[in-house]
Amino acid sequence: PRKQLVVVTATYNRAMQAYFLNRLGQVLRLVQPPVLWVVVETKAASAETDELLRKTGVVYRHLVCAKNASSVKDRGVHQRNVALDHIRLHRLDGIVYFADDDNVYSLQLFESLREISRFGTWPVAMLAQSKNKALLEGPVCNGSQVIGWHTNEKSKKLRRFHVDMSGFAFNSTILWDPKKWHRPTCNPIMQLDTVKEGFQETTFIEQLVEDESQMEGMPPGCSKILNWHLHLDSRNLVYPKGWVLQKNLDAV
Ligand code: UDP
Repeated sequence: PRKQLVVVTATYNRAMQAYFLNRLGQVLRLVQPPVLWVVVETKAASAETDELLRKTGVVYRHLVCAKNASSVKDRGVHQRNVALDHIRLHRLDGIVYFADDDNVYSLQLFESLREISRFGTWPVAMLAQSKNKALLEGPVCNGSQVIGWHTNEKSKKLRRFHVDMSGFAFNSTILWDPKKWHRPTCNPIMQLDTVKEGFQETTFIEQLVEDESQMEGMPPGCSKILNWHLHLDSRNLVYPKGWVLQKNLDAV
């Protein structure tokens, strides 16, 4: 049987949330066999989000992370921890993938995820806003063997693995092994606070695998872009005069 996909999305209320969740939901709906979408909101699970998720037709679980982010750099970390705990508690068997709500995903990506046996990674195309440049982050491969990394940001050169949050996925069975995590089951899996901005992914991945030899580069050759990491958020959005909708999510 083909592996189940558990797609984890951290999301929070802001002007484009409904647009992002709808866009992602519509891609996920096309994936066959169906994926399980674990969506984690901050503070409260809003009725608007729930309705939106229901209308996408995707099988979902709507969770909440009450803990507030202690700083901007936490972006979604607590929420991903809640999802990981849920996956562990309910023994959700499959390939776990962190899909941020604002990225752009190809269908082929989700097909490729099912090929992963333990830990898979691939290059993600990103937009460097300040330079208006497209950059790559992720593995350089010989077949499916990872032999190096694309990285462009000098400040991040010290990272062990140059992978974007949306550029890897892993088998949930890795989470079952208590010895691997060196601690009792309930502690957070993703490190916080002590981790510098830009180091979250590598810190987490270092807990999943020892080195490149345990990674599967995909698709073979790692020469295809399967998803884009964009920065499309519009901050401080101004609504037109006479706008009658009360909440951002109602605008759908
Ligand atoms: N996110 C969240 N709460 C926050 C900030 C971000 O749930 O306070 C989510 C956001 O919806 C997205 C993911 O975390 O799914 C990554 O956020 P963002 O795109 O802002 O991070 P970046 O692209 O800069 O890494």
